[in-house]
Amino acid sequence: MKPVYLDNNATTKVAPEVLEEMLPYLSDFYGNPSSMHTFGGQIHRKIGQSRESVAALIGALPEEIIFTGCGTESDNTAIMSAVESFPRKKHVITTRVEHPAVLNFCHHLGRKGYRVTYLPVNSLGQLDMAMLLKSIDEDTALVSVMYANNETGVIFPIKEISELLRERGILFHTDAVQAVGKVPIDLKSLPVDMLSLSGHKLHAPKGIGVLYVRKGTRFSPYIIGGHQESGRRAGTENVASIIGLGKACQLANGNKEAEVHYLSTLRDRLEEGLLKCCPDVRVNGDVINRLPNTTNISFEYVEGEAILLRLNEYNICASSGSACTSGSLEPSHVLRSMGVPFTAVHGSIRFSMSRYNTDSEIDKVIEIMPSIIKELRQLSPFGREKLSCPSS
Ligand code: PLP
Repeated sequence: MKPVYLDNNATTKVAPEVLEEMLPYLSDFYGNPSSMHTFGGQIHRKIGQSRESVAALIGALPEEIIFTGCGTESDNTAIMSAVESFPRKKHVITTRVEHPAVLNFCHHLGRKGYRVTYLPVNSLGQLDMAMLLKSIDEDTALVSVMYANNETGVIFPIKEISELLRERGILFHTDAVQAVGKVPIDLKSLPVDMLSLSGHKLHAPKGIGVLYVRKGTRFSPYIIGGHQESGRRAGTENVASIIGLGKACQLANGNKEAEVHYLSTLRDRLEEGLLKCCPDVRVNGDVINRLPNTTNISFEYVEGEAILLRLNEYNICASSGSACTSGSLEPSHVLRSMGVPFTAVHGSIRFSMSRYNTDSEIDKVIEIMPSIIKELRQLSPFGREKLSCPSS
């Protein structure tokens, strides 16, 4: 039975068109793009076309695109490049709600003697802009703020932030892994210096990422070796995946407005249905500025894992904010930073849609959920308390 896959912020299905485009480069066209012969050279040209497709999706120049191994590598590279390019500056600013690809790298820098400021967010997951400005000083090498949060979908004011930092001459990186392909991004009018994206979040395969580096930005490579990617990221290219990513970007670019509309219709249908049919349910985060495909919902007085296990019995895939996508047993650092109450953090579920989901899949979840929640609340000590005290 085909799963009802509502975990697209974790990873997405490879689009059939992407797979088709990739297959020849996993079979007949196996030359090394760095080789002198025509057999390899034709692959070099094909990589160039992919670079153009990626650049077109985000309003960049092809030479500003560096192919990497994943979103995590892009994030690590951007931060490392900033501190290496400005060796006298020992301060980095980020937020408390970043993905571990940024957060843990900043913890690593902290252990190496750098000063790191972790900006707080409010109860809607919005950034404290005044605090951002207050935190900047002459020692600041980089500000790194994610474009959209992977757990709540909340979108940060990247245009405003990038313009403020540009005026002050501070380097700015944004982790746009969850945003690219879901919301339009045009780097021609968005003065960010570096931006990360990841193929497997937009229907390309896993193991391919991009770091955009604006022309003229000081850059220091993280992976050192051969001359690939104009000396900015060594290692023989992951040819098939680069070509797959190019195709995925073309698909996303060709269908931008319609896709945003389709995804938000699915998300709103699910959210409205669940809010109507289950009591004590709340949506976490800013519901205006957020990704069209994501909703983070807390079912109070139940454990998120228990909900996921029951959904799994119906072959419905989602993820929870309690034991979290990372597989750790810690409750979500994102929801805790927002001050979401304990009982709601533990009962939070993230549903994330893609172009391959349908209304009938959403309706299946809405139909099944009330009985799952009712049953789990009867078993839960929090739920029993709540049931015996209806006025609280
Ligand atoms: N940044 C964000 C916001 C993410 O959601 C993810 C993956 O979930 C990453 C970075 C890491 O990307 P990758 O899995 O390609 O390393």
